[in-house]
Amino acid sequence: MKHVKKPEGDSDGCWLWTGAIDPNHYGAFKVAGRKRGAHRLMFELMVGPIEPGHDVCHKCDIRRCVRPDHLFAGTRSENMVDAEQKRRLTRRSKFTAETVRDVRLRARRGQSGASIARELGMSVHTVRQIVRRETWRHLDDADTDRNDIPQTVLPN
Ligand SMILES: [Zn+2]
Repeated sequence: MKHVKKPEGDSDGCWLWTGAIDPNHYGAFKVAGRKRGAHRLMFELMVGPIEPGHDVCHKCDIRRCVRPDHLFAGTRSENMVDAEQKRRLTRRSKFTAETVRDVRLRARRGQSGASIARELGMSVHTVRQIVRRETWRHLDDADTDRNDIPQTVLPN
C-alpha cells in the first residue's frame, strides 16, 4: 500500500499511515465516497471481517498505525475502557468541562447512564446529575455536536 510507511528490516515497529488523517488522529481512507479508518480497512484485508459493534483497537496506542498484528477487534466499550484507563493516568482526578460535554453528547446519542458511568469512571448518580443539568448547568454545550472534544485532557 502506498500510504503505509514500514520500518526498515524485520522490526516489529509500527506501520505508519502516511495518507490523510482524520480529526481523531486515525488514518483515513475514502472508499466509494465513504470515509473509512485506514486501520479498520487494513484489519479487514489482513485479518478478517470486523464483527458488528466491534472497533479495531491498537495494542501500540499509535492511532496512525495500520500494522495488522498491532490491531485487535473489541467492542466499543472495551475500547473506551482501555482508552479511559490510559487517559486517566494523565488527568486530574476532578473531571473537566470536556468530560461534562462528553457525558451529555453520549447521552444525546442514546448511550445509557450506566454505560457512560462505567466508561468514564464516574458514578451513575453523577452522570444523571450532569445529563439533567442538576450540576454543571452553566456549561453551554451548544457546540458539542462538533466532534472537537480533545481525546486526551491534559492536566493544567
Ligand atoms: Zn503499531
